[in-house]
Amino acid sequence: MECAPSADGIGIVNPHSVILITVDCLRADHVGFLGYQRPTTPFLDCLAEESVVFENAIAAGAPTYYAMPPMLASRYPLALGRDVLGIVPEESTLASVLQESGFATAAFSAANPYISPRFGYDRGFEVFADFLHGSEPTGASGTRSGNFRNRANRLLANACHSVGLGGAYDEIYFQYCQRLAARRDVSLDAVRRFPSAEILIDNAMRWLKEHCHQRFFLWLHFMDAHGPYFPKTEALKIMSRGDLDAVRAVYLNSYWNRGDVSVERLRTKREDVVALYDTGIRWVDEQVRRLAENLVELNVWDRCALAVTADHGEEFLEHGGRAHLPKKLTEELLHVPLMLRVPASPKHRVQSPSSLLDLAPTLLDVAGIPVPAEFRGRSLWGQLRKGKFQERPVLSECVYDCTNPFFPKDRMGPRLLAIRLSQYKLVLDFAGGSGQLYDLSRDPGEKAPLAMSEAAEVRQKLLTAAKRHLVESCQSRDFDRRMASHVREYRLELARSATHARN
Ligand SMILES: [Zn+2]
Repeated sequence: MECAPSADGIGIVNPHSVILITVDCLRADHVGFLGYQRPTTPFLDCLAEESVVFENAIAAGAPTYYAMPPMLASRYPLALGRDVLGIVPEESTLASVLQESGFATAAFSAANPYISPRFGYDRGFEVFADFLHGSEPTGASGTRSGNFRNRANRLLANACHSVGLGGAYDEIYFQYCQRLAARRDVSLDAVRRFPSAEILIDNAMRWLKEHCHQRFFLWLHFMDAHGPYFPKTEALKIMSRGDLDAVRAVYLNSYWNRGDVSVERLRTKREDVVALYDTGIRWVDEQVRRLAENLVELNVWDRCALAVTADHGEEFLEHGGRAHLPKKLTEELLHVPLMLRVPASPKHRVQSPSSLLDLAPTLLDVAGIPVPAEFRGRSLWGQLRKGKFQERPVLSECVYDCTNPFFPKDRMGPRLLAIRLSQYKLVLDFAGGSGQLYDLSRDPGEKAPLAMSEAAEVRQKLLTAAKRHLVESCQSRDFDRRMASHVREYRLELARSATHARN
C-alpha cells in the first residue's frame, strides 16, 4: 500500500472517527520524521508528509501515571492533589465525551499496570483490554499474547510492584532470564514481558470489523519500546540486527539494569541497548502500517483522524540515568513525537513547543464535538487550519522520586515542575529548592544552566507562569472527585485482597 491511499473521503470537514496511538517511551529524536537516521519509522515518516507534525511536543508529565491524565482528560497530573492518581470517577475524558456523542469506543493497552481500570482508564470505553490479568483477548492466529511464561512474568511483576517488591522482582526476573538464555533455545517471545504490537493490532482489527460502519474512537497503547527491551525477531531482521538474538538481548538487558556498574561501563553497551529499543519502535511502525491497510480495506481510512504520540521518552545515560524515573524533567523524557493526520486538511510542521494537554481538545475539535469546559487544554485545530500558531508557556510536572505510586505515601513527595517557552526551559525542583534556566537553542543537552544574571526577563516570565500554575493547582482540588478516587482505589484493593484470600 502507498502511504497516501486513495482518498474517497476528500472534502470531509469532520472525519467520522478518531484513532489515538501512544507508544510508551518513544523519544522524539528516535523517529525518522523528526530527523533520526536509523530506519525506525518508515511508514510514519511517509504519513508525516501528509500530516501536521509538532516538532516540539512536550508531555505534561512523566512517567506514564503522570503523562496520561493530561493526554486523555486534558488536566495537569497533580491538579487534583498529589495523592490522586489516574482518571477520577465522572471525570470527562476524550473517550467519555466521544462515547456520549455516539462513538463506538475501544482501547487495547499492552499490559502497562498504570493504564488499568484501577486507575480509571476504562472510563468511556465499551471495550477496554489491558492484557494484565491473563484474560486478554487472543491474537488473530488464535494464540494468546505470548505463552504461559510471558503471562506469568507479567502477573508476578504487577503483584510485586504493587506491594513494593518491584526492585527485588526485577532482579529475580533477570536471573530467571539469564538461566533461560543459558539453555540457548530460549526465544525473545518467551522472555518478553508485554504483548507485542501485532497482538494489539489483531484485536483492534477484529473490533474494527464490527464497528467501522459507525463513528468510532480507537486507542492503542504499545509497549514494544519499553524496557526490558525484547523486540520481535522479525523486527531485528528488518533492522539488520539478527546478531541481537535472545541470548544477547537477555545479557544486554541484564547488564543495563545493574545498579553496581559505572556509567562509563554502561556506555560500552549503550549502542546495542538502543538498537533493541529502536527495533521495538520499528515493530510498532510495521504494525501501524498493517492497521492503516486494514482501514483502507474497510474503506474508512479517509474518514479517520489519526494521532500518533508517546506518553514520555526514555533516557539512555544522557544525564547519567536509564529508563524514565521521575527524578528529572529533561528533554529525553519530555520531548515526544506528535503527528496528527486529518484527511483533506492542511499540512504543517509546528516548531513552537506544544503541550499534550491540548491533544484531547484538538481531537474533539477535529471530530466536530464540543470541548468540555473542564478541559484545561485548548484546541489547536483552529490555529492549525489558519496556519498561525500562538505560543504560550508549556508546563510539565511530576512528584520527585515517586517510583512506586501503588504506595500512596510515595505519591506525596515534592514536586518537579518544568516551564517551557520558545527555546527557554525553567526547571523548578521543590525538593532541592533550585530553579535552573536553560537556553535549549544553545544547550540542547541541558548541561549548563544560565547564570541568574542572564535572560532575567524570560526567567521572570516563566516564574510568573509557574506561580499561576501552582495557584490554579491548589484551587482545582475538587473534594468530591478526590474522595471518589480514593474510594475507588480502596474498593478495588479490597476486591483484590478478597480474591487472593479465596485463592
Ligand atoms: Zn510510560
